[in-house]
Amino acid sequence: MILYDNRLISREEAHIDVEDRAYQFGDGVYEMIRVYHGRSFYMDEHLARLERSAREIRLELPYPIAELKQLLHELIRRNQLEEGNIYIQVSRGTAPRYHGFPDQARPLTIAYVQHAKRPLAELNHGIRAITTDDIRWLRCDIKSLNLLGAVLAKQTAIDHGAKEAILIRDGVVTEGSSTNIFIIKDGTLYTHPTNHLILNGITRQVVLKLADECEIPFSETAFSKEELDQADEVFLSSTTMEICPIVEIDNKPVNQGVPGPITKQLQEAFVNEIKRTTLS
Ligand code: PMP
Repeated sequence: MILYDNRLISREEAHIDVEDRAYQFGDGVYEMIRVYHGRSFYMDEHLARLERSAREIRLELPYPIAELKQLLHELIRRNQLEEGNIYIQVSRGTAPRYHGFPDQARPLTIAYVQHAKRPLAELNHGIRAITTDDIRWLRCDIKSLNLLGAVLAKQTAIDHGAKEAILIRDGVVTEGSSTNIFIIKDGTLYTHPTNHLILNGITRQVVLKLADECEIPFSETAFSKEELDQADEVFLSSTTMEICPIVEIDNKPVNQGVPGPITKQLQEAFVNEIKRTTLS
């Protein structure tokens, strides 16, 4: 079953028009929410961000977020989703192709689930990353369907046998192609501040909360490519990758090529946070 507008229907029944604006312009917003033990993780925060993204592109959601939340819970239940992801997107709707906003279109919400286990190999051993130019637009704070900059960066990483592309704008590390990036230097955690150059990841916010609880000093301060190269530990965060160590950047090892102690401490705190929020 998938969510189509405000109904749960079979995937085969769903119909997307050739003039859907998400399809033609990437004109819409989206979210990805993780499910553990059949329960959603930080759903309210993701839905609040969906509302914000919609507001920022002047798209009025077709029905209240409380109704969407109920439908998503129903979607989890009907698909017997124990462990996996929920993808949600809202398009500005279908109208004759023209860049300006349509007068009459009703925004279309769709959502479906993916059954997916936690990426344990990556979480335990870490991943390789490369650095590349951040060629994206200047509203990276909006979780928009326009992902071509991210797609091209990710493929560059894959072409180099790496899992993530770390993006550099004007010498500064912004974030990953689909993740937020953190470094640890002399015991302090650093990540880019929230502004128009990054997506304020929900996992990023959880990491900062856990750092606070673990009494790990942190600072939302941008750092340079050179500081990235000199870091003691590097990790990424995202809904699907959680807190994942980066053990090699541009073919050079980070922390001798193994996950570092503070990264591991935060990973452990994250697992406890999953248990606290989804097993109670
Ligand atoms: N930055 C970008 C560019 C992303 O696409 C994502 C994942 N959607 C993130 C950061 C991580 O955000 P979250 O923790 O909410 O998944």
